[in-house]
Amino acid sequence: MHSTITVKQTTHSRIGELDFSNIPFGKVFSDHMFVADYDGVQWKNFEIRPLERIPLHPATMAWHYGQAIFEGMKAGISDEGVPLLYRPQDHLHRLNASARRMCMPEFPEDIFIEALEQLVYLDKAWIPQEAESALYIRPVMMATDEFVGVRSSDTFKMMIMCLPSGPYYNKPIGLLVEEHFVRAAEGGVGEAKAAGNYGASLYPAKIAKEKGYDQVMWMDAKEFKYIQEVGTMNIFFVLDDLVLTPNLSGTILKGITRDSIITLLKDEGYRVEERPVSMEEIEKAYDSGKLKEVFGSGTAAVVAQVAKIGYNGRDLVLDLNTNKVSTHMKHLINQIRKGRITDKHQWISPIKLPALV
Ligand SMILES: *Cc1c(COP(=O)(O)O)cnc(C)c1O
Repeated sequence: MHSTITVKQTTHSRIGELDFSNIPFGKVFSDHMFVADYDGVQWKNFEIRPLERIPLHPATMAWHYGQAIFEGMKAGISDEGVPLLYRPQDHLHRLNASARRMCMPEFPEDIFIEALEQLVYLDKAWIPQEAESALYIRPVMMATDEFVGVRSSDTFKMMIMCLPSGPYYNKPIGLLVEEHFVRAAEGGVGEAKAAGNYGASLYPAKIAKEKGYDQVMWMDAKEFKYIQEVGTMNIFFVLDDLVLTPNLSGTILKGITRDSIITLLKDEGYRVEERPVSMEEIEKAYDSGKLKEVFGSGTAAVVAQVAKIGYNGRDLVLDLNTNKVSTHMKHLINQIRKGRITDKHQWISPIKLPALV
C-alpha cells in the first residue's frame, strides 16, 4: 500500500522510563503522535512524528470558542504480539458525528485507520499486556484559525496520541443524583464528544466530591426525573434478571462500551431494555430488594461498579458481592480486546501488515 503518511521515528525512545506495574492514567504518553491539518478545503500534512509540544497563537480559536472535539479508544495486544484495535471505525464515525455538530470537517476514514495502524504499530512496545490494561488512544480535533470573533474556524488540526494505561478505577464509585445542574438539553451538544461539555461538568462534580461522592449522576434537563449518564460513562442497572439502561435520546453520549455491553448481554440471553429510566423506578427497585447492581461503562474504565447513589437525602447502598454482571462484562470486553476469546461481532482490527516506510 502506498502510504500518504510521513513517518519520522524518534531516536530517543522513552519506553525505558515506563514502569508497567504502575502507570498513572492520563500522564504517560508513548513516543509518537499523529498530526494532520485542514486548510479550509482539505486535510493534508499527514505525519507521524515524535510526541512534542506544538506552538500555537494566543488567538487560536479552539481556546476561545470551544470548537474542539475528541475521542477515546483502546488497543490491546494479543498473546502472539499482534496489536489489536477495538472498534476503530465506530470511534471514527462518532468523531465525525461530533465534527458535523460542531461545524468541523469530517476526517477521512482510510487515513484515520492507516494513521492508527501505523502509530500503534510503531509504539507497540507501549501496549501493556496485563488483563485490565491497554493502550488508550486519544484523537483530538481543534479549530486553529488565529482570529478573535465568533464564527467557525476555517483551519483545524487533528492529532492522535497514545497513553499506556492500567486499571482505571480501583474502587467502586459513589454517585450523587444531580438535581440542579444539567449536562445536556435536547437540541444541545450532549451527543457530541465536544470539549466544552467536560468543562461545564467540573463545577457540579466538585460539589459532589465535597459531599463525599465521586461523580454526579446527570438527570434529564426538563424534569430532573430520568437518568442520563455519569461523568464520562453510560449507566446500567441490574434489577433481578432485567438490565436497564437509558435510551439514546440525543442528550447522552452514544457509548461504544455501552453498545458492546448491550450486545454481549443479549448474546448471553439477558433481558436488556433501553428506555427512559426514572430515579423513582430505581429507588423503588432498591426498596423492594430488586436492585442488584449498578455500573458505569466507558472506554477508559470499561466498567465501574457503583457502591452508592445519593438521592432524596439518603444513600442507596449497593451490595458489591452481588456484582456479577459488571465483573463478567468487564472481563469479557478485556478478553475480546486482547484477542483471547472469539470476536463474534468483528470488533477487533488486528494490525498485521504495517505500511511503514
Ligand atoms: C466517552 C463518553 C462515554 C463513553 O463512551 P465510550 O464510547 O464507551 O467510551 C459516555 N459518556 C460521556 C459523556 C463520554 O464522554
